[in-house]
Amino acid sequence: MKLPFHLLLCTLAAFGAGCATQPAPAPAPVQAQAALSKAAPTPLLLISIDGYRSDYLERGFTPTLAQLAKDGVRATGMQPSFPSLTFPNHYTIVTGLRPDHHGIVNNTMTDPALGKFSLGNRAAVGNGQWWNEGTPLWETADQHGLRTATMFWPGSEADIHGKHPDYWKPYDGSVTPEQRVDQVLAWLDLPAGERPGFLTLYFDEVDHAGHAYGPDTPQVDQALRDTDAALARLVDGLRQRGLLDRINLVILADHGMATVPADHSILLDKLAPLHEVDVVSLGVLAGINPKPGHEFARIEAHLERPQQHMTCWDKSRVPARLAYGSNPRVPQLLCLADVGWRITTSDYVAKHKGKLSLGEHGYDNEAPQMQALFVAHGPAFRQGATVPSFPNVDVYPLMAHLLGLPAAANDGDYQAVQDMLRPEAR
Ligand SMILES: [Zn+2]
Repeated sequence: MKLPFHLLLCTLAAFGAGCATQPAPAPAPVQAQAALSKAAPTPLLLISIDGYRSDYLERGFTPTLAQLAKDGVRATGMQPSFPSLTFPNHYTIVTGLRPDHHGIVNNTMTDPALGKFSLGNRAAVGNGQWWNEGTPLWETADQHGLRTATMFWPGSEADIHGKHPDYWKPYDGSVTPEQRVDQVLAWLDLPAGERPGFLTLYFDEVDHAGHAYGPDTPQVDQALRDTDAALARLVDGLRQRGLLDRINLVILADHGMATVPADHSILLDKLAPLHEVDVVSLGVLAGINPKPGHEFARIEAHLERPQQHMTCWDKSRVPARLAYGSNPRVPQLLCLADVGWRITTSDYVAKHKGKLSLGEHGYDNEAPQMQALFVAHGPAFRQGATVPSFPNVDVYPLMAHLLGLPAAANDGDYQAVQDMLRPEAR
């Protein structure tokens, strides 16, 4: 996730003590109090290491993660949903819905009623109307009296169906991995009635290094080491509290990362008159809408012909396996770069000479380079098990099961992943 720093509504000093933008926990409704008085479920901590490609685990730079995998479950890979981008996939993980179904169809998108959405647009990111097509797990947990806390997660800043997690933070990239871990531990230290049962934790350093330098670089290796150090701090903190074997950990990534050489640019302006169309997004997945007063059919027909290093489709003709194109927010024409290429413009390349991203994701979700990490550890999970790759829509029904919550309608399949659980936890 590449986010600009934004206005800090919540200062670092206030971080440990809570935050002015975070509403004080409301008194639990009667129904919730009844639920809380029952035996609380084993807490579940969902951790995302943004851009941690599945095979990074083999590099040997994340020994804490490797140990958790050894003592728990590892999947040979986890297939992201298409497009293999950060916001769409993080929201898929907490809703079980493909991006086409939850409405976060890209990091950059438009909606006829809501206007423009982008990662740097704080108003849009915080506007629940963009997110309302899905029901995140924290919302269902809240309905059943389970407290929730998000140490960053796409969607957690929005008032989805009018609600946030009980504890949440506006995204601030300057909060260190250690501070993020310490906040999660502080939440777990809360008294029983205030303690969250579902928590998230988010690390982004691996993704940043992957974009800036490419996946096969010493900078990514260093980011892996740094992130593992934060995980080690978490494991130590859980162990000190006697929680390490009494909490379920799901550690995953939203997508992988592919090398994109500097000269692998597809210049869209050389292929179509861009002043006659509305370019919604560029990058790995370009989205193009018609512009009033200009003929679109001719441009579309031209781009849909075979192109070098990319494939373009009208949204109605996207291959079915990508499960993409039915949502009104998906632009009329999509151009998807081949793995290792970027779609951009001559202007952009001229302005960013020497500064282009050398790693990208967003590609076909079947590409080996896009496969994501999945490790799980805790009392519900088998020990030392390796399970086959599965689609990330299955994580949501798995997590709902772990928390004893009814899953909202979703695209996942609990049966497909229940083998990773101990028999008594299925
Ligand atoms: Zn990402």
